[in-house]
Amino acid sequence: MNLSIIIPLYNEEESLPELSDWITEVVTQHQFTYEVIMIDDGSNDNSWQVIEQIANENPNIKGIKFQRNYGKSAALNEGFKAAVGDVVITMDADMQDSPDEIPELYKMITVDGYDMVSGWKQKRHDPITKTIPTKLFNAATRKSSGIKLHDFNCGLKAYKNKVVKSIEVYGEMHRYIPVLAKWAGFRKIGEKVVVHRARKYGVTKFGWERFINGFLDLATITFVSKFSKRPMHFFGLYGTFCFLIGFLISLYLVLGKLVYTEFTITNRPSFYMALTIMVIGMQLFLAGFIAELVGRNSPERNSYLIEKKLGV
Ligand code: UDP
Ligand code: MG
Repeated sequence: MNLSIIIPLYNEEESLPELSDWITEVVTQHQFTYEVIMIDDGSNDNSWQVIEQIANENPNIKGIKFQRNYGKSAALNEGFKAAVGDVVITMDADMQDSPDEIPELYKMITVDGYDMVSGWKQKRHDPITKTIPTKLFNAATRKSSGIKLHDFNCGLKAYKNKVVKSIEVYGEMHRYIPVLAKWAGFRKIGEKVVVHRARKYGVTKFGWERFINGFLDLATITFVSKFSKRPMHFFGLYGTFCFLIGFLISLYLVLGKLVYTEFTITNRPSFYMALTIMVIGMQLFLAGFIAELVGRNSPERNSYLIEKKLGV
């Protein structure tokens, strides 16, 4: 099968018929063999009934329904598990992404050899309260991940099948799929300028918390990608550093006391600083040990993505 098109959706009943018609038109025109997997993320409108109806008319359209709302990442992850097409394309259900981009994305994966191509909504149709934080978010992600993309969180993306099988999207990590892909060893990550349209039906499913959560997740992902297999190298370093500074200040205070008898220790700010810094240092160290113990118990501790094998 050429294509798997994955569509996570939450309360998008109005858009679905139009979207699936448009997709079907594009893929049949280009003679792709395809499947469309719609993942109903616990909608409480009639989205699932609509999916059932569409799937009845067209056997290439498949559906998965969650019992409750788990979030876009969970929906994408289920879709990734189910996808069998050589090229996997994700798009939003709200018709902000255009199915007309599909053939070109397919070509970039199969002919140009990209592992993954991310859409870039160069001209956005979103309110300014969203576009400005998004710029900041993208700049921060570029800096910390080293991936030169303008628009990390575009819903329209294309992947080689093996890429989606090697990454696990959970929590709200759908904003960082390119980072997860790079981290799984897929370096050829491209970008394509895509048309972005205003939302036609319904409302956005993410509020202002998206920005706070987004930055917290960025901190997590940066930390996990560098240190998840060796947390002590992070905590131990800063722990030792803190402890040493505290220790040196204490040493100075003790020596001062030994040399001049009128030297008082407890009325000095440095005394309290030394105490606090040493305690913080110890805590970091302990956090490092505990993280090492947790890591030791992880079933993933020795799982690697093996690309090729010879004679084993
Ligand atoms: N979505 C989802 N689960 C959620 C929230 C959103 O599956 O909990 C889907 C939503 O239906 C849409 C896509 O994720 O297809 C992008 O959401 P939305 O358009 O609300 O985000 P925005 O375009 O405002 O960033
Ligand atoms: Mg949208």
